[in-house]
Amino acid sequence: MSKQDLELVSVTKQYGATVAVDAISYRFKPDSYTCLLGPSGCGKSSTLRMIAGHETVSDGSILLAGRDISHLPPAKRGTAMMFQNYALFPHLSVLDNVAFSLKMKGTETAKRHAQAREMLDLVDLTNLADRLPDQLSGGQQQRVALARALITRPQVLLLDEPLSALDPFLRVRMRAELRKLQKELGISFIHVTHGQDEALALADDIIVMNNAVIEQAGPARDVFNTPQTRFVAQFMGGHNVIALPTGHFAVRADAVSVTEPAKGSVAGNVTAVEYQGTHVSLSARITGDQEVLALIPDATFFANPHHPGDQIGLHWDANDQHKLTA
Ligand code: ADP
Repeated sequence: MSKQDLELVSVTKQYGATVAVDAISYRFKPDSYTCLLGPSGCGKSSTLRMIAGHETVSDGSILLAGRDISHLPPAKRGTAMMFQNYALFPHLSVLDNVAFSLKMKGTETAKRHAQAREMLDLVDLTNLADRLPDQLSGGQQQRVALARALITRPQVLLLDEPLSALDPFLRVRMRAELRKLQKELGISFIHVTHGQDEALALADDIIVMNNAVIEQAGPARDVFNTPQTRFVAQFMGGHNVIALPTGHFAVRADAVSVTEPAKGSVAGNVTAVEYQGTHVSLSARITGDQEVLALIPDATFFANPHHPGDQIGLHWDANDQHKLTA
């Protein structure tokens, strides 16, 4: 096991009769950005809080760098958590917020301020060191929270929906910064989100959770391109799930093309056409009352436009059709 390996071994979390996390096992890649992705209530935060030590493990174990950290207090694990609401102390300056955990450890003032300044430099906030949190924008507060988590020199940084409090513009900017920071620091980031676009933009690896278990995990492109289950195909988006006599299949919407009805194509009836700028999204009903979505480049569509009510033929390459296991 290499230095930073984090591993979950059959980890379970129960709250009374509720099984929030059901015996999940996973080995995180060292130095990588992993997103825990899934709908609300699937067990993502419980998993993250168990890794952080803010929640007890009901069963199973959590290993980091070869040692069992399942029952250690949060500060002794080698992990640090950045919370959704940032949880900054309103009466402390930015510098003292960042230095706080060192103060708790008894580090002398000059030394902890020097380290805090180093962290503020890392997140580009050096000139705001003397401000109070309420004198900062949302994005700046988030960077203070990041600096505060990183000052403990964690091997693994845990982020619980870190971008959800930001407006859409800032969210996109901060996610680029998070990604850059992870690469610079060379530690593992584990980031909880319910947004598939956020996970795809950030993650080396994505763990898709559903109903307290891992539904699929792997490199982001694999999870998107070859979903194994109907749930993953639908949750990741951009896919059609089509029931054929031989089973269920996923086909990417941008792999579907549209022609006049023809032999060898799937007959459909256009139900909706939506212009989306670079693409046109066309929905058609096919046999079995199933809806198929085609994402067509705008120039292709307008060279030969179709309208609701038109009979069309739908095509896709056999290689673009993936059989689903469940
Ligand atoms: P997610 O982060 O994916 O939204 P959570 O891990 O927060 O999911 O929750 C998973 C399940 O555990 C949900 O059914 C939730 O209601 C339940 N749960 C979470 N925290 C508690 C708690 N402190 N007490 C009881 N049930 C909880």
